[in-house]
Amino acid sequence: MSILSLRTFPFSVMLSGLAVASLGQYAVSQAAPTPSPLSSLIRTNAPVVALTHVTLFDGSGEPPKHDQTVLVDHGKIAAVGPTSSITIPPTASVLDGHGKTLLPGLIGMHEHLFYISAGGGVGHPLLATEQAESAPRLYLAAGITTARTTGSIEPVADLALKNAIEQGTQAGPDLDVTGPYLDGRPNMILQNQSLTSPEDARETVDYWSKRGATSFKAYMFITPAELKSAIDAAHAHGAKLTGHLCSVGFTEAIEMGIDNLEHGLSADTEFDPRKKPGVCLPADAQAARSVTQLDVHGPELQGLIHTMISHHVALTSTLAIYEDFEPDQPPLESLQATKSALSPTSWSDFLNLRGVIREHPRYQSPEAMAQVLKKEMEFEREFQRQGGLLMAGCDPTGIGGVIAGYGDQREMELLVNAGFSQAEAVAIYSSHAAKYLGRESIIGTVAPGMQADLLLLNGDFEHEVSTIRKPEIVFKKGIGWDSAKLQASVAGVAGQR
Ligand SMILES: [Zn+2]
Repeated sequence: MSILSLRTFPFSVMLSGLAVASLGQYAVSQAAPTPSPLSSLIRTNAPVVALTHVTLFDGSGEPPKHDQTVLVDHGKIAAVGPTSSITIPPTASVLDGHGKTLLPGLIGMHEHLFYISAGGGVGHPLLATEQAESAPRLYLAAGITTARTTGSIEPVADLALKNAIEQGTQAGPDLDVTGPYLDGRPNMILQNQSLTSPEDARETVDYWSKRGATSFKAYMFITPAELKSAIDAAHAHGAKLTGHLCSVGFTEAIEMGIDNLEHGLSADTEFDPRKKPGVCLPADAQAARSVTQLDVHGPELQGLIHTMISHHVALTSTLAIYEDFEPDQPPLESLQATKSALSPTSWSDFLNLRGVIREHPRYQSPEAMAQVLKKEMEFEREFQRQGGLLMAGCDPTGIGGVIAGYGDQREMELLVNAGFSQAEAVAIYSSHAAKYLGRESIIGTVAPGMQADLLLLNGDFEHEVSTIRKPEIVFKKGIGWDSAKLQASVAGVAGQR
């Protein structure tokens, strides 16, 4: 035994233990195929499936059609139409969809794979904990079949997870992995590295592009020169760059070539009279006033909307995370599913932070957050009305009440509260995002030839938007995942891992 192997002895015991385990599996699989550890989470993987008599929202934004049948054949949609017009092959597995609603698989465009672990309040270091186990399953269970990670804390883990999902060894949405946050100084999350120069911004984008990141996100304290450098570097790799901005105003970022803006007006400091170039202003009462005093039909916002649309800059709606900062919103009774998903420690940390928000409301008054949310809803409606590309995601950050999947259900409800029809809200969460990703010929609508990504809801979503909280089966590439089993498999785990 060499010195090297003596030194590595404890590791070699572990490794050989693993090797024995996997050899054992291999030996068994020679005799009879071992069921995949994920197979208990799958409701159906029949090669041909007919979903009959459903109410169908096809993702285009058109009103729903009733008594429709969708035929899935080997991972693709083979036929869509009135039930009476579709011939169902005798080999098909038939799912009766009477009283149910079918949506395209949803595309979440602001979906982190971490959870903010703030330890229950002020004075604790702000850590973000990778949710490699719970987040992908909770997203998929809610019908999110494609997700952009929109700022990564552990890009190595996110990329490994993306590959594991593609290879079928983990359950979750297809991932557009965003590189690490491109932030300046200070930055809020302990694990984020601050950029030091425009050159550093370019090198960071180059480094993560080469390792598989397919999008980037600028964060609040990036300098204008770093932002410009990061945008150019991302574009050189064929990647898009979005931003949760603060130091740089929206119009300035649009002129630099940014592709997407996150959150909306509260992240745009350009209308604050105190604005100085490159400076991120505090989220205080004056900041709230500078947003709520704007008129969506006035020259400032009409000008901004025009600039965004003429430069093809998309907007990502994150209404659920705005609501998370409103004192005592949403009511705790509506968060029972979130409570059962979270670990007891994470749930109690969240309740503590709700207390902090009640005592010290953002913008210094309990009403200001609600007014900012209302203005944001008006802005998003006007942006879309004029032809802007609006997308959505849950942004599971804030004080911890918005989590993967369940947060997207709330976001969908809030889009409808904002005045979008159900069909428009579905399009925001599907075909709009597919268009932004350049994947609109593959995902985002329910039509023949498209990938069979579908969300079956157990109820009438057309007349009751809270039906979004009743996902039953989520098809991804034709495999029908059981939502309840996905959720149960990680109950009490979210927040921890
Ligand atoms: Zn975010």
